[in-house]
Amino acid sequence: MELQKAEAAGAVFGTDRRKGLGGLGGTQEGPLTEVHVFWLAGMSCDGCSIAVTGATNPSVEDLLAGAIPGLPPVVLHHPVLSVGAGSDFIAPFKDAVNGELGAPYVVVLEGSVPDDQVLPEGYFSAMGAGGFEAETQGDEPNRVTDWLKQLAPGAAACVAIGTCATWGGIPAAAGNITGSMSMMDFLGKDYVSALGVPVVNVPGCSPVGDNFTEVVVGVLMFLQGIGPLPEFDELGRPSWQFSETVHRHCVRAGYYEEGVFAEEFGDKECLVHVGCWGPVVQCNITERGAINHMGGCMVAGGPCIGCTMPGFPDKFAPFYKAPPGSAASSAASRTYGAVFRRLRRMTMRADNFEPIWDRAGEVPTAYARRQREPSTSSKMMGFFYKKLQYQGTVDQAKRNREQPQPRSMGILDQAELAAPLARYKPPDAQEAEGAHPEEP
Ligand code: SF4
Repeated sequence: MELQKAEAAGAVFGTDRRKGLGGLGGTQEGPLTEVHVFWLAGMSCDGCSIAVTGATNPSVEDLLAGAIPGLPPVVLHHPVLSVGAGSDFIAPFKDAVNGELGAPYVVVLEGSVPDDQVLPEGYFSAMGAGGFEAETQGDEPNRVTDWLKQLAPGAAACVAIGTCATWGGIPAAAGNITGSMSMMDFLGKDYVSALGVPVVNVPGCSPVGDNFTEVVVGVLMFLQGIGPLPEFDELGRPSWQFSETVHRHCVRAGYYEEGVFAEEFGDKECLVHVGCWGPVVQCNITERGAINHMGGCMVAGGPCIGCTMPGFPDKFAPFYKAPPGSAASSAASRTYGAVFRRLRRMTMRADNFEPIWDRAGEVPTAYARRQREPSTSSKMMGFFYKKLQYQGTVDQAKRNREQPQPRSMGILDQAELAAPLARYKPPDAQEAEGAHPEEP
């Protein structure tokens, strides 16, 4: 694959500044003063748009305002978010098709691509009407597939957002009548953008908004010549976002390892027995959260149903049934987990004591009245555990056993130390006894 040099972006697309619908200005370096983003919606539920408007790192507003140092502002042409309407809204799309935009552009597709190019007439998804010439008007809707065909070859990059656009997703599931497919399937295996970049895929149903805006920033840095092209994997996914499984970073992974599993929704343990596919699904929602590092499937109690994967949804159906592959691993973790859980609890109990409580033989709190004395076996285990722990280093437990006890520990039980406190009377009590609190 021949990637054109980033410095060439200005030469390829020109550097004329055009008035766009966004772009409030900001610090800029490199050849470009603005980059247009043409957002197309195929067979879509608009969930990707909603996810992206929730992005925070960076936010859509940061991109539009050119608030990211060194990057040109983004001029976003979005069928839902743009303020312009009618022919004003469609004009820049036509300019891009006809090579008259005067600035580089990125095509973003949300939703899958229907197979309507083969229909003698009609469409599944359309935007604008009357063809692609600047002046033409008409009633015949422009199919989104036509826009894609026209815009993709001249784009600096084509980005598929969400699982419908990246892999076909739900509209491409068994039984669909639209023949839906992904952007990659539609454009074909030889497609590369004007800068030599194959389709970039940011999957998820809906995707993590920050995953998308982060990729846009990476691509803009490349276009501006201040960064390398971000690393994508063999399926065009940002490799730093999709190389790990959900399971490896899951907040419930500790339960899996200890062999403790949720039996029904609402339970706090690992969700594999209620249908979680996390161990085999590539997605970073467990690290990144859904919005602003909060939420996400397993955090909110939902098992992973594989929505970022090319095989979604049919290869992960039926949802909420335990994946067959989990039977062996969860049985194994149940077996060894039962042992290790107990051993860990013993260590946890022992280390839940301050050393001075160990020396005093009691915990100075009313809560601990029923605190049990550790069993002989626990004490022995603890002894050998600490031997191993401090092997080859300073035995801090032994040093701590030799520390003197703090003398004022349990002060209220010590008549001598508690006496000055007992003599103190609050002002109300002094007044009741006839003394003025300020008098000596
Ligand atoms: Fe793994 Fe899913 Fe269990 Fe999390 S809930 S630990 S991802 S199997």
